[in-house]
Amino acid sequence: MSAPRHPPPQPPQQPPRQPPAGWHPHLWHPTTQVRTAPVPLLVRRATGALLELDDGRRLIDAISSWWVTLHGHSEPSIAAAIARQARELEQVIFANFSHAPAERLAERLSALSGLERLFFSDNGSTAVEVALKIAWQWWRNRGEARGQLIAFSGAYHGDTVGAMAVGARSLFSEPFEPLLFGVARVDWPASCWHDPEPDSREQAALAQLEAALQTPTAAVILEPLIQGASGMAMVRPAFVQAVAERVRAAGSLLIADEVMTGFGRTGALFACRRAGIQPDLMALSKGLTGGFLPMGVTLASERLHQGFISDDPTATFFHGHSFTANPLGCAAALASLDLLEADPGRYTGFEARHRPLLEALARHRLVRRPRCLGTVAAFDVAVDNPGYLSAVGRRIQGHCLEAGVYLRPLGNVVYLLPPLCLSDAQLERCYAAIGSALDQV
Ligand SMILES: *Cc1c(COP(=O)(O)O)cnc(C)c1O
Repeated sequence: MSAPRHPPPQPPQQPPRQPPAGWHPHLWHPTTQVRTAPVPLLVRRATGALLELDDGRRLIDAISSWWVTLHGHSEPSIAAAIARQARELEQVIFANFSHAPAERLAERLSALSGLERLFFSDNGSTAVEVALKIAWQWWRNRGEARGQLIAFSGAYHGDTVGAMAVGARSLFSEPFEPLLFGVARVDWPASCWHDPEPDSREQAALAQLEAALQTPTAAVILEPLIQGASGMAMVRPAFVQAVAERVRAAGSLLIADEVMTGFGRTGALFACRRAGIQPDLMALSKGLTGGFLPMGVTLASERLHQGFISDDPTATFFHGHSFTANPLGCAAALASLDLLEADPGRYTGFEARHRPLLEALARHRLVRRPRCLGTVAAFDVAVDNPGYLSAVGRRIQGHCLEAGVYLRPLGNVVYLLPPLCLSDAQLERCYAAIGSALDQV
């Protein structure tokens, strides 16, 4: 055999794409394009609302480190609870075994949510996946074919494949489009202060929901009151109530994704409570452990749990994660609940602290659609090309960093979602930093 006379054409040699100077050679950061993102800042420690950088600078963490830090960084009572638990029982397989921290947490969260059964996982995406799988299999176990899921435009439910599928199609999900199962979509009638026309948009969305519910539907999933990642898009409680009524009337299941809204973020312990609804399933994570440890839980009604009790092994919910019910996470979550129950005013009163400051900021010529719910305040920056890739957010982030305030705008949406320990002076500094950043962009 002779060698081919003409070797196959070789692709032109690409020089390796070096990350710019300053990037660690062995780390891969989440949702980060090294070509355009600023080099990550090295953090040495964090206490309360403050991050302390390696170079000695101190920054107010105005977004609770991606919405997880609930009370404050290094909260002593949570740190102590984790340390105590680590010396007793750090981890045990949760099939065949149970333990007191898991049982206590299940009892307390069941009482607070009105949902009797708690299933553990590791993060918000898995808490959503579990909710979807429970809903889906519950119908199957009943021998009833319900092949449709309904979700809202703009929804974000996590980055795993099932959670992505119920989330809105976006820049994040685009490469995976062929892998994502289809869902029926209903508009999300986001509102803001002085909104002239929320009623008609809400009515249109409810009509879409009613039409979609004509098809047998396993479950409807929503982020109650605030869609977080799509840009702190807030709806009125009456809309969420009307959705819950339609879902109930159709005999379908309602999944509340409270991964971001849970634990006081909307001014009530759960957004469902503030909206006055009772879902069938609820996904929680982020603030669950006070932001100390990765843990997710899915709460389900006893009615759903009953649907999995059977002599037929295929009726079992065959789902489990290695770190299910990690005792350290449970201990942190219990300590976090203690703090929330000791001083509910810290979350019920936060909205009143935002209001006057946001009202003043809303007079800035670049501020559009100001809105506020509980600990979350947000507005859009008037730009020609809104959206996640809008450069204005990065510029505002840069100016605020210079003023000692860490923000992470969602494109042209600027928001504050601070830990509960934030002082009045610190909150005022956040608004002042945003105001002067807006003057400079
Ligand atoms: C963050 C978030 C998730 C995903 O949680 P992860 O812990 O990041 O996987 C799901 N749903 C909502 C509403 C979220 O805000």
